[in-house]
Amino acid sequence: MLGRDHALSGALAFTAVAPLLHVTGVHLAAGVALTAGAGVLPDLDEPGSTIARTFGFLTGAFAWIVHKISGGHRKGTHSLVGVALMTVASLAAGSWQAGALSGHPERWWHLVPAGFILALLFSAGFRALHIGGHHGDAAGIALAALVIWKGWDLALVTPRNVQVLAVCVTLGMLAHLAGDMCTHDGCPLLYPLSRHEFGLLPGPVRITTNKLAEHWVVTPLLLAGLAYFFWRDAGFSLAAPAHLAGR
Ligand SMILES: [Zn+2]
Repeated sequence: MLGRDHALSGALAFTAVAPLLHVTGVHLAAGVALTAGAGVLPDLDEPGSTIARTFGFLTGAFAWIVHKISGGHRKGTHSLVGVALMTVASLAAGSWQAGALSGHPERWWHLVPAGFILALLFSAGFRALHIGGHHGDAAGIALAALVIWKGWDLALVTPRNVQVLAVCVTLGMLAHLAGDMCTHDGCPLLYPLSRHEFGLLPGPVRITTNKLAEHWVVTPLLLAGLAYFFWRDAGFSLAAPAHLAGR
């Protein structure tokens, strides 16, 4: 699947579950953008991918390391273990960030891991969706700094009171896996225990990346779904104050 459609599927996944998480306003907007970026995160195992080229040499070298550790392209980062590890990493980065923001400015360097993850996700999302061109990376970094400073990525979402950043990473990566499972490749969900490639669709109707079906069926469906859920969520966030006011 193309990076564009992976990013759209991540954004779609977040807008679809937003009412269940009770996120509205800026948290909804930040969540949608972060999950779009998390939608391309699994391809960080491929040094030539969209996300690996986000910050040039820096992310290229990082992708090379991920490629080596995760066993190659579409291996560890496309498995349930990979999703769990990235979720734990984002939770750890979030708790460091929360510590630094709650009255410990001398621990400013505790903001670095969360800053890296957020800048990577925002910039990768913009890049995959062709937003901002060459300025997309700078916009991603600026946005990451704003969100970190305001702590918007730390908003706790119901029902389990987890930070929204961790939810975005999990949802985006799962959406990516689901997307790849609709292609002929499938995903090794149980890697490293098994190399079996799991698929969601029967062989004949699986799609081929960057072919007519992806451009004319998958992308329009993702856009339509995203528009619908966004419209519904906007209504939800407008309705919430009235609901709280007891009307
Ligand atoms: Zn992939």
